[in-house]
Amino acid sequence: MTRQSTKMYQHILLAVDFSKDTDCLVKRASEMAFLNDAKLSIVHILDNIPMPDVSYGTIIATNDETDNALLEQEKTKLNAIAKSLNVSDEQCWLIWGAPKEEICALAEKEKVDLIIVGSHGRHGLALLLGSTVNDVLHHAPCDVLAVRLRNA
Ligand code: AMP
Repeated sequence: MTRQSTKMYQHILLAVDFSKDTDCLVKRASEMAFLNDAKLSIVHILDNIPMPDVSYGTIIATNDETDNALLEQEKTKLNAIAKSLNVSDEQCWLIWGAPKEEICALAEKEKVDLIIVGSHGRHGLALLLGSTVNDVLHHAPCDVLAVRLRNA
């Protein structure tokens, strides 16, 4: 009997924070997208750049010119990942806001059926304080793959 490949996911969303383990997440997202023949989108939430003129949930176009040097840096990093994954500008999201809320809201809006996030395996006080992965797991409208990042 031959085993048929099962495509479980059609639209995968990779959430990246540009930490040193991002390469590992990118690799896993690439494999998952390939195995499922799925559309792949990438999101980074701008939670550490002051942007007083926009409200939470504002989408920043990755190809817009801007005077904000920090924002430019984030765009450059996101564009580099998108290029390595062959993801188009339309599937690349830079959003101003809180990661847990914006990742889930985007997944809902874009009909994502799998979110991929990194898990640092925190424990003790850090676990009590919560993490993005915990929040996403509890509020996601779809499956979540938490990839263990061992060197974090
Ligand atoms: P954390 O537990 O908050 O350190 O983050 C765990 C994972 O959540 C990261 O590996 C990313 O997948 C995702 N994440 C955290 N912050 C962001 C962010 N600002 N934008 C997109 N994804 C994020």
